[in-house]
Amino acid sequence: MEKIKMTTPLVEMDGDEMTRILWQMIKEELLCPYIDLKTEYYDLGLEHRNATDDQVTVDSANATLKYGVAVKCATITPNGARMQEYNLKEMWKSPNGTIRAILDGTVFRSPILVKGIVPYVKNWTKPITIARHAYGDVYKNTEIKVPGPGQAELVFTAADGTQTRELIHTFDGAGILQGIHNTEKSIISFARACFAYAVDTRQDLWFSTKDTISKKYDHTFKDIFQEIYDTEYKAKFEELGIEYFYTLIDDAVARVIRSEGGFIWACKNYDGDVMSDMVATAYGDLSMMTSVLVSPSGAYEYEAAHGTVQRHYYKHLEGKETSTNSIATIFAWTGALRKRGELDGNEALSAFGDLLERACIKTVEDGKMTKSLSLISTCEHPVILNSLEFIKAIRETLDGLLFTA
Ligand code: NAP
Ligand code: MG
Repeated sequence: MEKIKMTTPLVEMDGDEMTRILWQMIKEELLCPYIDLKTEYYDLGLEHRNATDDQVTVDSANATLKYGVAVKCATITPNGARMQEYNLKEMWKSPNGTIRAILDGTVFRSPILVKGIVPYVKNWTKPITIARHAYGDVYKNTEIKVPGPGQAELVFTAADGTQTRELIHTFDGAGILQGIHNTEKSIISFARACFAYAVDTRQDLWFSTKDTISKKYDHTFKDIFQEIYDTEYKAKFEELGIEYFYTLIDDAVARVIRSEGGFIWACKNYDGDVMSDMVATAYGDLSMMTSVLVSPSGAYEYEAAHGTVQRHYYKHLEGKETSTNSIATIFAWTGALRKRGELDGNEALSAFGDLLERACIKTVEDGKMTKSLSLISTCEHPVILNSLEFIKAIRETLDGLLFTA
C-alpha cells in the first residue's frame, strides 16, 4: 500500500511518562507505516516545559489556532512532589489549562463503546458526550469564613463608581460566605463551541442549569444559549435534523439515565466536573474516554481523558512489563487525522482514521485486550496483552481490515 499523503501538518504535542512511551509506539506501529505523517512537533514533556519556561505550551496552543487541529499526549500537572522529582524552576501551570485559555475552548468528553464492556446503565447503547464549561463559578470563587454575627452584602462598583448592593444574609452567629462570577464573553464562547460541536458531530445538544432557583445567574446561561441558537444555529440544526433542548438539571439527570445516549450534554462548570466522572465510570473505564477541546473559532485539540498513568511508568522504568491501554490515545490521533482530512478534503486520511478506530474496537471485541479492560469485560477467555503486544495486535487487525477493504 502506498502511504497516505498529508497536505497540512497536525500540531503534535508530546507528553509525559507512560503515555509518552505509548505515543512513540503508536506512531511507529500504527501511523508511520501507513501515513506520510506531517506534524509540527512540540515537546510538552515536563523537562522541556521547564527548559523553555513553559513557552513551548503557549507556542503549541498558538500553532493549534493557526493550523486548526492538534493531538496531545497526557502531561504532568506539576505539584510539590513533581517540583522535586524534575527539579523544576517553578510550579508550571497545567498545560491543559494554558491551552484551554488560549483557545478559549470547551472540552467534550465521550466514551468509546465496545461489545463486551457493558455500561452500568444498560440502556446506554450510544455514547453520551459531556461538554463542561471550564471557566468561573465555584472554580474562581472568593470565600469568607464568617466568625460571628454581622451582615453580608453583595456589592458591585461600576467603572463610573456607582454601586449596586444586595443583602446576602444577616448572620446571628458564625457561618460561611462564597462569591462566584462568570462573564458573558465566556458563556457565549461556551455556547458557540457546544452548538458548533453538535453540528460537527450531528448530535442533539442538551443543556441544563438550575434556572428556577438561580433566576439571574443560571438564567443568564439559559438566555445566552437560546439567543445564540435562535440567531446562529437554528437553521443549521433543522437542516441536519438535530435538536437543541434545554431543561432543568434535575429533569436532565432523570432523562439522561433513561436515555439510550447519542447526544451532547452541556453542563456548567461544577455540573460538568461531577457528571463527567459519573458518566465515565458508568461507561466502564477512564482509559476508554476521549476528550476534545473545541475553540469557538473552530480549532480542535484531541487527547485521551486519562493522565500519564504514572504507576505503570515507574514499573516500566524498573524494566517490568506493563499492560497500559492505549486506545484513548490512539483515538486522539484518529480524531485529529479525521478532522485534518475533513478540513483538507483528504478523504484517504479521514478513512484511515475511521479504519484504525474499527481496528481498535475489533481487537478488543475479538478478546485481545489490556489488563484493566479484561477486568470489566464480559469476554470469557480474554487474552491479556502487554502494552506493546496490544498495539501490535491492533496493527494486525488493521492490516486484516486494509486487506479486505
Ligand atoms: P491517570 O494517569 O489517569 O491514572 C490513574 C489510574 O487510572 C492509573 O494509575 C491506572 O490505574 C488507571 N489508568 C488510567 N489510564 C489508564 C490506561 N490508559 N491504561 C490502564 N490504566 C489506566 O491519573 P493520575 O494517576 O491521577 O495522574 C497521573 C499524572 O497525569 C499526574 O501527573 C497528572 O497531573 C496527570 N494528568 C494529566 C492529564 C492530561 O494531560 N489531560 C489528565 C489527568 C491527569 P492502575 O494504576 O490501578 O492500573
Ligand atoms: Mg471531576
